Amino acid sequence: MSILVMKFGGTSVADLDKIKNAAEKVQREVARGHKVIVIVSAMSGKTNELVGWVGKTSPLYDAREYDAVVSSGENVTAGLLALTLQEMEIPARSWQGWQVPLRTNSAHAAARIEEIPRANLDAKFDEGMQVAVIAGFQGISPEGRITTLGRGGSDTTAVAFAAAFGAVRCDIYTDVDGVYTTDPRIEDKARKLDRIAYEEMLELASLGAKVLQTRSVELAMRFKVPLRVLSSFEENTDTSGTLVCDEDEIMESNVVSGVAYSRDEAKMTLISVADRPGIAAAIFGPLSEAGVNVDMIVQNISEDGRTDMTFSCPTDQVLRAERAIKEAKELGEINFQELVADTDVAKVSVVGIGMRSHAGVAARMFQALRDEGINIRVITTSEIKISVLIERKYMELAVQALHDAFELDRAA
Ligand code: ADP
Ligand code: ASP
Ligand code: MG
Repeated sequence: MSILVMKFGGTSVADLDKIKNAAEKVQREVARGHKVIVIVSAMSGKTNELVGWVGKTSPLYDAREYDAVVSSGENVTAGLLALTLQEMEIPARSWQGWQVPLRTNSAHAAARIEEIPRANLDAKFDEGMQVAVIAGFQGISPEGRITTLGRGGSDTTAVAFAAAFGAVRCDIYTDVDGVYTTDPRIEDKARKLDRIAYEEMLELASLGAKVLQTRSVELAMRFKVPLRVLSSFEENTDTSGTLVCDEDEIMESNVVSGVAYSRDEAKMTLISVADRPGIAAAIFGPLSEAGVNVDMIVQNISEDGRTDMTFSCPTDQVLRAERAIKEAKELGEINFQELVADTDVAKVSVVGIGMRSHAGVAARMFQALRDEGINIRVITTSEIKISVLIERKYMELAVQALHDAFELDRAA
């Protein structure tokens, strides 16, 4: 039995016509002899609406109830797609995460998948079910509560099913026809890549390119799942879209493969922190316990035993971060003069495996930003990426300037 995993994102199931369109794509694969596991997202905009309702009801919400609410959008589309397939005489059944069961840890709102037992689905496939429609994004914790996998998590559900069932491939259907050198909504000259290495895709995703959730790329890389991104709204062939694959399956690539951005970043600075061994642990321990995802960290040179400590985190975690730091101060664990939150920054990054062997990428990046008069507030680098924090109003301009500077509209 050859299993294919197909995932349809929010815009691909946004209304009943789009669900019909997705069902027709599934029908084509069934006709080719596959058993299909389909993963669906909520209708586009639905999860945002649910998240908004939670935030209005309870700003520092209990994450277990957040998950109870925000997981619900996927239940609707899973049932509707199963019904649509049944109307087309295709034996299909929908499954919510807990029914499979897709087991996760207890990290609500950012749960990690621990296990997907095959028995329940396999039994139904043996009985003649052709298509299993799975509500993406959700699972069940060891305590028996519904969990969600973080925003964009249906991608991860899809790859995890592909790995668990040894699928021939995992096809991610979305509203663009592949992975581009940058978000095509921001840069008209963005170019579709036929192939991209797992490692580069992992960096792009973790730096904000939301076309794939980071964790999904991590899983695909670990379990060697052939992952393809393609359009829901075009006729696709076997070579359409972008294949995410091993580095050695790619012949030539540019030094920089792509530019990513993340709009909702906040920069927080603790001014005049009493510097002593253990101070970083005293600051970042409570932040971690409060569930704050700290990204960049900069500590200034210490003068007179005091220093400034800056870190970045997502804008919607600023309240949590402030609370955690104030509590640590009240408990006497840290001592600083002032905590300043700057919620008006964005992160822009360039990514490319070629950086390992080419010098000068950072200089070229900084020159391009200088030429546009964009001030850099924080810089971080790793082997295959360079990221900067800049004022948010310059974000689009910076993405375009970097796309030009690295000539990403042209193939290597
Ligand atoms: P879905 O709802 O199908 O999961 P998403 O909105 O999560 O879709 O992801 C697709 C979007 O990702 C595209 O519409 C595009 O705006 C954005 N995107 C960001 N960076 C890239 C990139 N490098 N290549 C393609 N799309 C990108
Ligand atoms: N519906 C969820 C979200 O919007 C999961 C997903 O679409 O992947 O984040
Ligand atoms: Mg998505």
